Amino acid sequence: MLSYEDARALVFEHVKTLEKVTRPLTESQGHALSEDILAPHGMPLFDNSAVDGYAVQAEDLAESSSENPVRLKKLGYISAGDTGEERLGSGQCMQIATGAPVPPGADTIVMKEDIELEDANVCFTQAIRKTENVRYQGEDIPEGRTMIPAGTVIGPAQIAVLASFGFAQVPVHRLPKVSIVSTGSELVDVDVEPQAGQIRESNRYMLAGMVQQETCELVKVSMIPDIPEILKADFEEALQADIALVSGGMSVGDKDFAKPLLKEMGVEEIFWKIKFKPGKPLFFGKRGKTLVFGLPGNPASSYVLFEEFVRPALRKMMGRRVLEEALVKATLDVAITKTHKRLHFMRGQLSEKNGEFRARPLGFQGSHSIGSLVESNALIRVEADSPELPAGSQVLVRPLKNEIA
Ligand code: AMP
Ligand code: MG
Repeated sequence: MLSYEDARALVFEHVKTLEKVTRPLTESQGHALSEDILAPHGMPLFDNSAVDGYAVQAEDLAESSSENPVRLKKLGYISAGDTGEERLGSGQCMQIATGAPVPPGADTIVMKEDIELEDANVCFTQAIRKTENVRYQGEDIPEGRTMIPAGTVIGPAQIAVLASFGFAQVPVHRLPKVSIVSTGSELVDVDVEPQAGQIRESNRYMLAGMVQQETCELVKVSMIPDIPEILKADFEEALQADIALVSGGMSVGDKDFAKPLLKEMGVEEIFWKIKFKPGKPLFFGKRGKTLVFGLPGNPASSYVLFEEFVRPALRKMMGRRVLEEALVKATLDVAITKTHKRLHFMRGQLSEKNGEFRARPLGFQGSHSIGSLVESNALIRVEADSPELPAGSQVLVRPLKNEIA
């Protein structure tokens, strides 16, 4: 059986990053940049004041103190948005607003709070440091610097930089189109009272939520019974997406039609079954440009497989540099006594105390457990055939985007 590492390598090998497109700035969040963003000019754009105050020549105030107040003649007021062309000479000062251009001749700004106003003069009673409160052209970002490397996902900070540099249109990669099909004759929808033998369907909603966390586009989400003719029609539609997620029917049951049917419909099997827990029957295949993940129907399996296989695949397709949350080192709070022949990503809880990560696995690890999903905020990696891990052992842990009490 394929190892977790080999299976992930196969997934990454088959995932191709999507085309480059441009998006309006206001619709760019969640996309990955397709090009490095270089500063087309320095930032700030011009020398300007960091405070509301008075522009001066520092030399005039070299001796100023409370015992030796210095008076400078007050000229006009430069507000933000003014061109600030009037020259300042020795013995003069000019009122200035935060963000207003420093007038020629001035080299320092004194805060408004530190002066006393007289009729035609301003009185300075404190020592100052030359260049104080001046924000210099280019000091934040020099022209030509790579401000945001290609592959970075766009969030609010990137949007601020892109806006400041005039990127009304942003070079990004197209977002993946994703379809989700939940299969199973026992499944009923959320607003239906389950009859004997039925259960409410949850994977479709859960997986859709996970896809939306990555801002990918859901093009089709459906739930269908294990009836080959119905499955086939639905799969055909799902296979038009960039990634199709099929839940259920991946194992060896007599009614597990999904996998053989996908193959019959031209989906090439890249692998099926991995040495991994939970979610051994993971299927990965491809038809044309469409990648297919066959996820076992057990909710915890689907959830963990999405984290470890689908999320990083989506991110690679999106052109993102960071494919997943890095594993962190944590100390086990309780022993892990039961280990397995397969690599196990155990649902657990990660906490931080005095700058150190602590981890504890949940007691119940059933692959059907939906209770464990809301109680875990991390996956604890336990190697195949691992010896028992006593409390205090160091483990690797994948933090999850999930808030727990
Ligand atoms: P399967 O992978 O189809 O053999 O299903 C494995 C287990 O997961 C069974 O107990 C199913 O009832 C359950 N299951 C399958 N699909 C879903 C779903 N979409 N939502 C919740 N449970 C499911
Ligand atoms: Mg089933």
